[in-house]
Amino acid sequence: MGGRFAIAVKDLAVGGSDFVFSLTVDWLREALEGCEIEPGGADGSMKVRATPSGSDVLIQCALKVPLRATCVRCLEPAKVDVDSSFAVLMTPCLAESPADDDADRETFEGDEILLDGLAREHILLEVPMSPLCSEGCAGAALGAQPKARIDPRLAPLADLVIPEGAKSKKA
Ligand SMILES: [Zn+2]
Repeated sequence: MGGRFAIAVKDLAVGGSDFVFSLTVDWLREALEGCEIEPGGADGSMKVRATPSGSDVLIQCALKVPLRATCVRCLEPAKVDVDSSFAVLMTPCLAESPADDDADRETFEGDEILLDGLAREHILLEVPMSPLCSEGCAGAALGAQPKARIDPRLAPLADLVIPEGAKSKKA
């Protein structure tokens, strides 16, 4: 993946500089290749505040990305809106690298910080394991033709389910 979201470290203001990157549908498609999720049809955005701190740079990032997955219950398209914020301290890549035990610390080379990998990583982190088209999705089996899928001998049991309305009237 080419580095499209680059920040030039030497141009940063002392108090921090703000950037807005457009996560285009094309970029998303490339970034999500091989994943069970695809772009939702519109561009996403990544707002970044980059603040120098000595030779390090603190990156504060807010991602908003519309995506589309497959509902695990009914297999219809499910909207997934990623809305995520995170902060990472970027450290210049030096010859000797310290023990890599700090997850919130990344390195950059030269005087440019590339954010493509970070953006992709955090988008994937936010994607739910079991996407749903809606909170109350009943799934395909309980949708359009419930009785057709039930063993005829068990059909009477399906009628025993008490509707929500009836329950609240009794209470
Ligand atoms: Zn569904």
